[in-house]
Amino acid sequence: MAASRVISRSFDYLVIGAGSGGIASAKKAGALGAKVAIIEHGPLGGTCVNVGCVPKKVMFYAASHAESLHDHQSYGFDISADDKIFNWPKVKKERDSYIKRLNKIYESGLEKANVELFLGHAKFVSPNEVLVNDVTLTAKHILVATGTKPIIPDVPGAKLGITSDGFFELEELPKKVVVSGSGYIAVEMAGILRALGSEVSLVIRRGKILRSFDDMLSDALIDEMKHSGINIIPHSKITSVAQQPDKLLEVSVSPFDGEGEVKSLSNVDCLLWAVGRDANVNDLQLEKAGIEQDKSGFIVVDEYQNTNVPFIYALGDVAGKKLLTPVAIAAGRKLSRRLFNAEDVKLDYENIPTVVFSHPPIGTIGLTEAEAIKEFGNEKLKIYTSTFTPLYYALTSRKVKCHMKLICVLPDEKIVGLHIIGMGSDEMLQGFGVAIKMGATKDDFDNCVAIHPTSAEELVTMK
Ligand SMILES: Cc1cc2nc3c(=O)[nH]c(=O)nc-3n(C[C@H](O)[C@H](O)[C@H](O)COP(=O)(O)OP(=O)(O)OC[C@H]3O[C@@H](n4cnc5c(N)ncnc54)[C@H](O)[C@@H]3O)c2cc1C
Repeated sequence: MAASRVISRSFDYLVIGAGSGGIASAKKAGALGAKVAIIEHGPLGGTCVNVGCVPKKVMFYAASHAESLHDHQSYGFDISADDKIFNWPKVKKERDSYIKRLNKIYESGLEKANVELFLGHAKFVSPNEVLVNDVTLTAKHILVATGTKPIIPDVPGAKLGITSDGFFELEELPKKVVVSGSGYIAVEMAGILRALGSEVSLVIRRGKILRSFDDMLSDALIDEMKHSGINIIPHSKITSVAQQPDKLLEVSVSPFDGEGEVKSLSNVDCLLWAVGRDANVNDLQLEKAGIEQDKSGFIVVDEYQNTNVPFIYALGDVAGKKLLTPVAIAAGRKLSRRLFNAEDVKLDYENIPTVVFSHPPIGTIGLTEAEAIKEFGNEKLKIYTSTFTPLYYALTSRKVKCHMKLICVLPDEKIVGLHIIGMGSDEMLQGFGVAIKMGATKDDFDNCVAIHPTSAEELVTMK
């Protein structure tokens, strides 16, 4: 009998996970002349490309079309929002093929960057050996960039529900949806489904959504969500899920704290869990490398993305800090510059701009008002706020307000927080992010001549 052949390959840099962070880091290392390999057990591009930012944004656009149908008549088009016949399967098909094209682009990008791709599940066999299929890979430096996966809570019948991954598999627009969660994924998905015509209930544990955001944003968004017809069920949790004889779901909801009446939501055809994400480290055998994890399972790293094991690094979602694509990409590229170009660079995690693609969208950077009070004290702050109806709604019967807030620290009124919710906030934030990262003051904002008529001009004219 022939002995099974053990194949072993060695590299300068081995990256586990071809998502946002892994691909960016591998390509940068390749460009800097390192011999690089990357391992991936799913489609290339990771969460963002396949079940995150990209397909989500496509659906946000679909939902935005549905919303603006309400305004067409006011702008002289003889089309009624009631005429809308939304073809979900068509959009899904086009979206899926767009993503397949992106997967191919990522594959050829790796090829061009001289990064060798291994398709399969990676697991550590020792600190500097990783097994994929029947190949053992060794490297001088190893990066873990395996991302996160959605949590399904431990509730009877929970598996009858789906997560955001399942949302992208839906073949039809569900009629009656229950979303559980109060974070950005929950509010984004609830908003998309509602705008496209589903009946939506949002079950939240406390009285607020987006609890880590500035109060102005979470209060304004919850009002808009209610106004759009989303049934918000506050201070509640889902306690069980059962299948009715007709295969629809019956979802039981109880008060989050303590005893109280149990409500039942019946005839639900889609229950969507958006209650958080866990580190994606299943069967990675981190223990064989001795890599430290925190109590939630995320890999512990220092500010340079070093784990406790020399020559092993982690970044992106699996490191549990600022779970966003551009964060993973920036950290990945900086790590490669440090390892393969001897540059003393690391990602600065402060003042990272973020957008929530809710309806209306949110843009936010810096400290919330509550955080600023805690850090500087009330007397050191000057807060500017503005609420107005964007000019777009001048002719329409639908009016969605825009709210803005600048948080400034005295005496020079350095801006430490900027928060906006309203039409166009998503595209408005990036440039203001640059200014704030450069340390802009209120005077700097005021010295920039306004662009009229826009909503953004309000940010440089606030009194
Ligand atoms: C619904 C949703 C919407 C989002 N929207 C936005 C948004 O609008 N903007 C934004 O900035 N961020 C958004 N995000 C977050 C963003 O997708 C993540 O922050 C980003 O993808 C993290 O990149 P990463 O490289 O850390 O991990 P990932 O992109 O998740 O990549 C990890 C890769 O590792 C692979 N892998 C895991 N284990 C192994 C193994 N053992 N062997 C081989 N391969 C393995 C996985 O298959 C995956 O491809 C969204 C996320 C979700 C879920």
